[in-house]
Order: sequence, then structure tokens, then C-alpha cells
Amino acid sequence: MRVYLDHHATTPVDPRVVEEMLPYFSEHFGNAASKTHPWGWEAAEAVEVARGRVAALIGGRGRDIVWTSGATESDNLAIQGVIEFYRERGDHIITATTEHKAVLDCCRALERAGRARVTYLPVDENGLVDPGQVGAAITDRTVLVSIMHVNNEIGTVQPIAEIGALARERGVLFHTDAVQSAGVLPIDVEAMNIDLLSLSAHKIYGPKGVGALYVRGQKPRARLRPILHGGGHERGMRSGTLNVPGIVGMGMACHLVPAQRDSDVLHVAGLRERLRTGLFEGLEELRLNGHPSKRHPGNLNVSFAFVDGESLLMSLDEVAVSSGSACTTSSLEPSHVLKALGLPDGLAQSSIRFGIGRGNTAAEIDYVVDRIGAEVPRLRALSPEFRMRAPVC
Ligand SMILES: *Cc1c(COP(=O)(O)O)cnc(C)c1O
Repeated sequence: MRVYLDHHATTPVDPRVVEEMLPYFSEHFGNAASKTHPWGWEAAEAVEVARGRVAALIGGRGRDIVWTSGATESDNLAIQGVIEFYRERGDHIITATTEHKAVLDCCRALERAGRARVTYLPVDENGLVDPGQVGAAITDRTVLVSIMHVNNEIGTVQPIAEIGALARERGVLFHTDAVQSAGVLPIDVEAMNIDLLSLSAHKIYGPKGVGALYVRGQKPRARLRPILHGGGHERGMRSGTLNVPGIVGMGMACHLVPAQRDSDVLHVAGLRERLRTGLFEGLEELRLNGHPSKRHPGNLNVSFAFVDGESLLMSLDEVAVSSGSACTTSSLEPSHVLKALGLPDGLAQSSIRFGIGRGNTAAEIDYVVDRIGAEVPRLRALSPEFRMRAPVC
């Protein structure tokens, strides 16, 4: 048996998405920027349909969607683009310590280059940002607030409508990384006062290597300095020949969300509860990381005290889960998100992220509960600290 429980890292492509993409490889292969022949027109038309579908998912206008290579680029374009465009107005960014590395590393790079000053807001023990602290951090030099919608490690859902309202009231642009929420939570850039929003296709059953940045075009208009120059595609905000099959796939992935969302959420939330109760009833000294209720329905993040997370991952080689996030597993550093919750290094390194998706079954969850229920006591038996423990959770 092999079980994939790493849907925050990536999802399989929905067969309906693949089918929609296929004609755009060899049949309708035109360059969407070719204005003088039907090959180009066909490609451009497909791109515009996809633009409308992505915009519809978030309540925005199609013309405000900029195609990118994925959410890493979307986050970088939003943050770097705003900072460089609004140099006259200010240089201050407000973000949080639990953001994705695409946001944090971009902010750090701007700080190192002397191009921005950044406030990294702390989170509470459940991973929540306090909107009051966002308001208090805004100065007359603040140009951007960047707070993610749903955290990719602990699943915590941030109060982005409140933060958006605050930023709008103070005349500051608001960016949110909505990669993890797009498939499971409703998003409305108007009601939530969002000016810039990052999406990635491969987290919502679409293809890898394609994403989008929503850039509000009016009331107020958000402006960006491009990162990539050449050709002036995407109204000058992102040059480069469009990945037409990928874009068509992303459009379809977004188009499928509304009809899938309720059943997906019900399904993954049910399995997540089955996993949580199975683990917590069978084992002692566990800690749930992230908010108990305000969290992604398919996310579970658990610390198995006195067990090294990497060793547990190794012993579960037929089960795909993650310690920390896929992006940080190459380093042996404990997760910056878990540390931000106040977990000591040891407990952070004992943590596993489970990401449940559309295709998972109850039998798979029961299998994983059994396997972990056997491995954790075996690994703990090897730990002198466990035998001499004082309870930590
Ligand atoms: C996966 C992820 C990203 C990066 O998206 P890519 O398209 O893989 O570059 C950014 N932010 C969050 C929250 C993510 O989960």
C-alpha cells in the first residue's frame, strides 16, 4: 500500500484538466502573442477564457489577472513590484513570521539590498495574526501588507477580510498568498479588500509551473514595477511567451473548484478528523499544531514528542507526508512556522504535516493510523528521554 498525504506540497492533476490542456500542445500550439494569424488568435482566445475562469474564482476581473510561473513568482512580483513602484511613497512592508518562504525570503532580500524595511509580526500559539497589530504597525511609510490566507504547514486561516479592511482604510495595499485556500475556501477580492493575490495551479489539481497574480486594476489601482523585462506581455507586468497549455489547465482547475468545493471539504474534513482521533486516541504525548477550528479542512500537523520527525518519515516510506514543508525539508532547520508558534526545536523537529486530498480514502487513513501507532512506540522505546520523561504536551 502507498498513501499520498502531502497535498499541500502538490496535488495530482484532475483528468478533466489534462483533457482540456491536451489540444494546446500539438494542435493549437500557437503563440498567444502572435497577432497576425489564426494560430496566435486561437491561443490568445484560450488564454482569455482561462483568465476569466481564474478571476471568477476570486471575484475579480479577468483583465486583472497576470500569468506567472507559479506562486513563488507571484509572491515575488507582488512584493518586489510594489516596493520598486512606490519608492517615492515609502519603503515599509508588514508581513508575518509564518509566511511562506517565497514571501519571507523576498522580504529579506529587499532588506539586504537596502530597498525595504520589514516588520515581521508574531503570531499567537495557534498561528493567528492579530489584525490590531497590523493596524498598529502601519506607518506613513508603509506601502504593503502581505499576510497569507491559509498556512501551508499548520493550516491556520488568517482573518484576511479584517486585515484587508484595515489596510484599505489606511491607504496601504494588501497582498495575500491564497495558494492553499483557493481550492477549499471562498475568496472575494472585493468583499475582502484584497489588492494583490497569489495563486498556483498545482495546489488545486492543476499543472505545475503555472500560477497567477491578481493585480487590482481599479478602486484603487495597484501598480507594479516588473521583475522580468522583454516583450511587454501581460500589460508590461510580466514579459515572456505564455505557457498556453499550463494556463488552459489552470483555468480549468479554477473552473472546477466551485462545483467540487463543498464535497471536497466535507470529504477531507471527515478524513482529517478520522486521522486526528485515530492518532490521539492511540498515542500519548501528542500535540496538535495550528488552530483547532480555524484551519484548512485537509490539514493536520502533529508533534510526536520524543520521536525524531525525520526518523518517523524514513520508517513510513510508503506514506507520503512531510516534516515542516517540502520547501524546507532540504535543510535540517526546524520549521520556522512551528518555531513561530513557540515550539522548542526538539518538538518542532518531531512534527509531521498531513495534507489530505480529494482522492484519499478512509481505508488509507486507517492504514496510516495503524502504521504510525506501531512506529511511534518503537522509536520512543529507543529514546532515553522518553523513558525518563516529564510530560511535555
Ligand atoms: C506551494 C506554495 C507556494 C509556492 O508555489 P509554487 O507554485 O510551487 O511556486 C507559495 N505559497 C504557498 C502558501 C504554497 O503552499
